[in-house]
Parts: sequence; C-alpha cells; structure tokens
Amino acid sequence: MQDRFDVVVVGAGAAGIAALRRLSATGLSVVALEARPRVGGRTHTILVRPDLPVDCGAGWLHSADKNLLAQPVEQAGFTIDRSPPHWSRQSFNRDFPPEDQRAFRAALNEFEDRLRAAAAAGIDRPGSDFLEPGGRWNVLIEAFSSYYNGAEFDQVSAVDFAAYEDSGVNWRVSEGYGAAIASFADIDRIVVDCPVATVRHEGRELTLDTAQGSVTARVIVVCVPTSTLADGRLTFSPSLPEKSEAAADLPLGLADKVFLGLDKPDDLPIDGHLFGHTDRTETGSYHLRPLGRPYIEAFLGGRCARELEVEGPRAMTAFVVEELGALMGSDFRRRIHPLAETSWATDPWALGSYSHALPGRAACRAILAAPVENRIFFAGEATHPHFYSTVHGAWETGVRAADEAIAALG
Ligand SMILES: Cc1cc2nc3c(=O)[nH]c(=O)nc-3n(C[C@H](O)[C@H](O)[C@H](O)COP(=O)(O)OP(=O)(O)OC[C@H]3O[C@@H](n4cnc5c(N)ncnc54)[C@H](O)[C@@H]3O)c2cc1C
Repeated sequence: MQDRFDVVVVGAGAAGIAALRRLSATGLSVVALEARPRVGGRTHTILVRPDLPVDCGAGWLHSADKNLLAQPVEQAGFTIDRSPPHWSRQSFNRDFPPEDQRAFRAALNEFEDRLRAAAAAGIDRPGSDFLEPGGRWNVLIEAFSSYYNGAEFDQVSAVDFAAYEDSGVNWRVSEGYGAAIASFADIDRIVVDCPVATVRHEGRELTLDTAQGSVTARVIVVCVPTSTLADGRLTFSPSLPEKSEAAADLPLGLADKVFLGLDKPDDLPIDGHLFGHTDRTETGSYHLRPLGRPYIEAFLGGRCARELEVEGPRAMTAFVVEELGALMGSDFRRRIHPLAETSWATDPWALGSYSHALPGRAACRAILAAPVENRIFFAGEATHPHFYSTVHGAWETGVRAADEAIAALG
C-alpha cells in the first residue's frame, strides 16, 4: 500500500463512504482504511436464501422525505418501497385490543410532551423521569425506547432525545439498504482488514499506525463508532481525552434482529406487526412478511437484547420463537425456522447499534464533531446534531467532515 496521502479516512461505514466520495472528486490523494473485511459498517445486507436479502443493520430510510440518500439510491437502480411502516399496528389485535392500543399511543404522546417541554427549558434529565408514576403503559414505553434508542429511558438524555428529527416518513430498499450503501463505496480507494490503532499528531504530518503498517497524511477524517474511541481501540498520541470522554457519553445502544423463515405464510398480513407482550419491557417487535416475503423479522433492543447476546448464539432465536409461540399458538412454532440472528454488541467493530446521549450529556455530540488542530476531522452518526443514529445522518456528517478537510488543505 502507498504510505503517503493528502487525506486518510478512517472507517468505511456510511460516513466514511460519503467522505471518501466527496474527497475523491477533488484530485487529492485519498484512501480509506477499514478494520473489517467488508465496507458498510452498521449497514449490512445478507442473503438468507439466494432470493431473500435481509438487512442485519439499518433497513429504513428514516425521514425519507428529507433523506438525502433516497434519490441517489433510486438513481443507482435500487427499488424504494414507500409503503408505510409496520410498527404502529398490532395484527389481529392479538392480546392488545384497539382500546389498549389507543391508550398506549396516548400515554406515549403525553410522555413525549412532558419530556419535550422539559428539554425546551434546558432540563437534561433521564427520559424515565417523565414517565407517569405507576403508569400502566410505562413498560411498553420502555420497550419502545429499547428499540428506538437501543436503551431504556433511564440511560437517555431528554435534551438529546428531543433534538432527534423524525419526519415520520419511512421507506425501504427492496434489495437492501446495506447493499445500496455498499454500492456507493469507491472500492479501489479502500483498504480492508486494516484497523487503525493509533493516530500520532505530534509532528508536521499525521502518522497512522495500522495493522498493515504506518501511513502518513496531511489531514484525516475519523469515521469510527463512538465505541471504538471510548474503549481505546483507536487512540491518539498525544491523547485527546475530550474525544474519548465525549464518545463514552454517547454510547451505542443495542438493537438486534432475528430472521425466521415462515411456512404457509398466506394467513399472515403483509407488513403486519406484533408486540410479543404489552406488559413487560423485555419483548420483541415482530415484523410479519416484510415486503410480502415469507419471513418474520424480530427486533429486540436494550437490556433484553444485551442479556440474550451474553447467553450466547441462538439464545435470541429461542426467545423470539418462544414468544411467538405463546402469542400465536404452539402450532405456529412448527411453521417458523431460524434463518439468521445478529449480535451487534459483540461485533468488535461496532459493540452496539446506534448512539444515544447519557442524561446530562447532550452537548457531547458537538464536542465529538469539533475538529482538532484543523487537521483531524470527525464524522459518524454520533456527531450529527439531529439525524444521529441513522444512515443518512452518518452520510451527512461524512460530507461535512470531508468539506472541512478540503477547506483545511486550501
Ligand atoms: C440493528 C440495527 C438497525 C438499524 N436500523 C436503522 C434504520 O432502520 N435506519 C437508519 O437510518 N439507521 C439504522 N441503524 C443505524 C445505522 O446503521 C448507523 O447509524 C449508521 O450505519 C452508522 O454509520 P457510521 O458510518 O457512522 O458508522 P459505522 O457504520 O459503524 O462505520 C464505521 C466503520 O469504521 C470501522 N472501524 C471501526 N474502528 C476502526 C478502526 N480502528 N480502524 C479502521 N476502521 C474502523 C468499522 O468497521 C465500520 O465499518 C441501525 C443499526 C443497527 C445495528
């Protein structure tokens, strides 16, 4: 590998791919160094059968009407499905009658109103402080948080939660969101299997110590997840404690998926949905027949997903099969069979799914995003002020940091 560049991008997830595209168009010499053997980071489409792509990571173009990726994804030949998302319904009203569904939605809206009013007044307490004491729907609101934030509300900053921007429009990519993002990668300029361990910035040039030797750069764009910065997998010399502390205060919450093949699918609604339980937080959100395909996508979050990952492979699958069997009847178990499960908490280059700010620490996103010495620039979903935790947010930060790098080089 060439060892001198104008710009080195560290990490080739959505942010790194976006930064690299922007930089490649300038004529500067640029490379991206990626720890994994593949690009895309927390976007990753796999084929569970030759005709069945599933997204292990991001699957939804959130805020799709404001999502700057929607148009390029379609222009690149991918198919965007605009049908509404599944998550607000309970198919067959199973164990969740319509009056309870209305009561839950009202409780969630009232909770969010209290939280947003406090956040607007600058009160940055844990989100859980705004639950109605003893409220019937608190456990399901916490389940919602475990999917939405990857963590229960006691771990979530009210101000940061309120800053998240969601237009409520959500679309999907039939061939896989991960496949679309990977297709944007400038593969010839990406070195995979190349984790960066240390960035030395004491000299005139920056030196990056990697698993494949050392590389120098005039400027760099760091596009790694907060977990990598917080646990010292990527360090700076001299150290940058404000960055590792900000990253630690923006931990990655956990969301995992289990994919179950489905025999005789026709009696289940296309894009149907079930909550496993409505009286506990440790429960799955089940997407029935996504895009009409013969499988179920189970979504688990927060402590529930974390504990199941610790139990080991297939514990999550056993949990969701048990829950669906209890909900749909024991015969149903014979109709479903495991296809795949994710384990983002134990994935060494993610250690989680998407960032949330700890209570009182909403300001950390700006701290993490700030450049150092006008030559070390930071991107990644966690650095976005209001589209954090998303692919389009990550992409926007990659473009922003690339522009900062280009400006710094004059
Ligand atoms: C289960 C799940 C569901 C999700 N659902 C959605 C969704 O529906 N919609 C949505 O918009 N978002 C969703 N997300 C979140 C979305 O995937 C992320 O916010 C986004 O992909 C993050 O992109 P990034 O570039 O910031 O980070 P990453 O994708 O994590 O990319 C960082 C890259 O840096 C690499 N790296 C790490 N350390 C080093 C190092 N030391 N040296 C070199 N390389 C390194 C990593 O391998 C990785 O490739 C989901 C995520 C998960 C896990």
